[in-house]
Amino acid sequence: MRSETLTGSERVSVKKLSTYGGEGCAEVWYPQSAEEFADALCAIGRMGKEPYILGGGSNTLICGDGAPIVCTRRMRSLCFDSDRVLFEAGATISQLMTEARKRGFGGMEFLEGVPATLGGALRMNAGAFGFEMSDFAICTRILTKNGQILLKPARSFPYRQGETDAILGGELKLFRMRPEESLSRREEFLARRRAKQPRQPSLGSVFKNIRLTQEEAREFGVERLEQIGAIRMPKNREVSDGSSSRDDVEFRIPAGKLVDMCGLKGTVRGGAQISPMHANFIVNLGRGTAEDYLSLVRLAENAVFDRFGLKLEREFALLGRTDG
Ligand SMILES: Cc1cc2nc3c(=O)[nH]c(=O)nc-3n(C[C@H](O)[C@H](O)[C@H](O)COP(=O)(O)OP(=O)(O)OC[C@H]3O[C@@H](n4cnc5c(N)ncnc54)[C@H](O)[C@@H]3O)c2cc1C
Repeated sequence: MRSETLTGSERVSVKKLSTYGGEGCAEVWYPQSAEEFADALCAIGRMGKEPYILGGGSNTLICGDGAPIVCTRRMRSLCFDSDRVLFEAGATISQLMTEARKRGFGGMEFLEGVPATLGGALRMNAGAFGFEMSDFAICTRILTKNGQILLKPARSFPYRQGETDAILGGELKLFRMRPEESLSRREEFLARRRAKQPRQPSLGSVFKNIRLTQEEAREFGVERLEQIGAIRMPKNREVSDGSSSRDDVEFRIPAGKLVDMCGLKGTVRGGAQISPMHANFIVNLGRGTAEDYLSLVRLAENAVFDRFGLKLEREFALLGRTDG
């Protein structure tokens, strides 16, 4: 369903906005340039409302009639200059990698199959298999609250916390790579995803994996950590090489493992389910609402806290209510 309403905006079904789906409609602006993006934010500001910036919607749960949305999906240009690529925020991972391969570049195959925009991926510092967006960012073009466009040099961001300003675009660095090599890396990562992750509509991982410092791990109890499958790793690396000093080490507990150990795999609420394949995914069985999703989120949070005394942190963004 799509119809013109307020000047410059459209009423769009939530099903088209979030990869989980859901019910209802939202007021959406689709700017096609940085100027239109700034104009949309101003128009919403004049209505006395706080805008929500949406990319691919692959990490956004939309509840009811939420804030007006500025969606970047029509700002999707890419401009290659050797191993560097200038991008607009709404360009997608798959678009980037298809175009990069045609020019003999690669590097970000680890995110292929993820239905994200580059702006959303930078905001979330999306990552997988030991790589993160921030490893590839050179700079980000942002729009400040007072309407200035600035170029910010990239820096190393923490786990799933990237750039917090409104992202208009930026510059990424890729690697020279034969198309066959890039395609083979793509296939390898996709196969690993297919083996572990459900195919039904979702928002990817519901919770962040828990990270404990040495100190916190000692307090929690090393034996208990072993029982729940915590992994000792050098900070910011996926695999331990055993060479780090004590302070560089942290303990990681996969959130899905904790939810699974609470016996919640397969639990259904309305039209949503904690995936029987991977307990850190909540999938839409067809008619799942945002409320169904949140009800399973709260169930998992309470169960993990009651059993392990650990607080799960949500990875997805919530639009439309604050008491979630
Ligand atoms: C099947 C599947 C697999 C996934 N696998 C992974 C994975 O391997 N690794 C991983 O990290 N994530 C994964 N995700 C989650 C998701 O794809 C990422 O978080 C991604 O970065 C979200 O991008 P998006 O464009 O869809 O963001 P959206 O959902 O549109 O937005 C997410 C957040 O970013 C903000 N945002 C979006 N665009 C901008 C912008 N231009 N400027 C400022 N803020 C912005 C939004 O306001 C919101 O806070 C997966 C999701 C799915 C559905």
